[in-house]
Amino acid sequence: MYSKNIWKDATDNKFAEIMNFAEGYKKFITLGKTERLCVNEAVKLAETRGFKKLSEVKTLKVGDKVYLTNKNKNIVLFQIGTKKITEGIRVLGAHIDSPRLDIKQNPLYEKNDFALLDTHYYGGVKKYQWVTIPLAIHGVVVKKDGTSVTISIGDEENDPVLGISDLLIHLSGDQLQKTAAKVIEGEDLDVTFGSIPLKNVEKEAAKANILKMLKEKYDIEEEDFLSAELEVVPAGVARDYGLDRSMIAGYGHDDRVCAYTSLMALLDAENLEYTSCCILVDKEEIGSVGATGAHSLFFENAILDILNLLGYATLKELRTTLENTKMLSSDVSAGFDPLFPSVNDPKNSAYLGRGIVFNKYTGSRGKSGSNDANPEYIAWIRKVMDEKNIYFQTAEIGKVDQGGGGTIAYILGNYNMNVLDAGIAVLNMHAPMEIVSKADVYEAYLAYKAFLEA
Ligand code: MN
Ligand code: MN
Repeated sequence: MYSKNIWKDATDNKFAEIMNFAEGYKKFITLGKTERLCVNEAVKLAETRGFKKLSEVKTLKVGDKVYLTNKNKNIVLFQIGTKKITEGIRVLGAHIDSPRLDIKQNPLYEKNDFALLDTHYYGGVKKYQWVTIPLAIHGVVVKKDGTSVTISIGDEENDPVLGISDLLIHLSGDQLQKTAAKVIEGEDLDVTFGSIPLKNVEKEAAKANILKMLKEKYDIEEEDFLSAELEVVPAGVARDYGLDRSMIAGYGHDDRVCAYTSLMALLDAENLEYTSCCILVDKEEIGSVGATGAHSLFFENAILDILNLLGYATLKELRTTLENTKMLSSDVSAGFDPLFPSVNDPKNSAYLGRGIVFNKYTGSRGKSGSNDANPEYIAWIRKVMDEKNIYFQTAEIGKVDQGGGGTIAYILGNYNMNVLDAGIAVLNMHAPMEIVSKADVYEAYLAYKAFLEA
């Protein structure tokens, strides 16, 4: 069903399914504000559906469900199909890192009686959007003895929240002459952490008080920040958006909305012919780099583990499996915003409520950095969607020469597998509050499931 509004045709039954599915997703992004927390939630969901840790499994057979995690920030799950695995795998891939502010390695300082934390933003952000909103901190502090202390401040009902101040309008004459990129500068995104001076301390007494509290509450010292991974994110829960509750306002739809729908599709898929896989990666927002990003050998190593447990051992079998594999690389699309129509080509834009978005290519300035899928593969996907009456649309990111963006699609394409960019339209991408349509969230889940079961 190409480019039609889902709500218009939805039966009462489907309407209820859409609304019901959204509740699970809202919970997932409310709890999963970092990639580590997303992995935790994914493991919980998988285990309740019978998935087992691969390291605890000795052999694999048709119908088995297993998962592996990588350094707590990256997970891949498999369901074994009836066909020989060398005939190819069906892969759903998405990323679970989102733009945010990371705490620097040496972050804590005092200025004018305030204790502050220095940050370095992660991914592409409009810096002015991150001031004067309630913020939370999630992450871990790993001590020299190897113990990992979990930090979570700002999301429990009675927690304090944190934030970054902005200049009052009354004194903003000079500030408002600056360009939007310079109104708030990266180095000034410092989180206010406290303001009570420790008694009987002469210098930096507010900082001393914070350090005392960190010692009491978490048993950590200032130097322990050196080996910490602390992410400053918007505080609060994902909520219904619009009087009709048709949308969800939340932090991190990019790309947890595709991660959750892909994950649920794999967990719920049944009687699979092709071995199916869902991989959720980290570091997409900074170039898919490092051990937990899409460029990592983790995925290939995991496939090798699965092949070995199924009785295959050669490099040729690994390469054949990967070459025969089909993938949907899922990442959010720029939803058409009626307040900013000028940046889009209306007939090649993604609209909220019209279903999963397929992007033949992403990239910028002449498709640079994109995967640019083969038409033969896109034709096959169209057939799969139409056979199950799934609502889909096609789009690219904005007008030619307007800008653009990349995804992980080309990285898996390097294995010579067929990959198509897919995803869900989002408004306010990379802002602290992003918006998706509940109809698209559910339709993406149906699309992913149809892909795995085709
Ligand atoms: Mn993304
Ligand atoms: Mn992004």
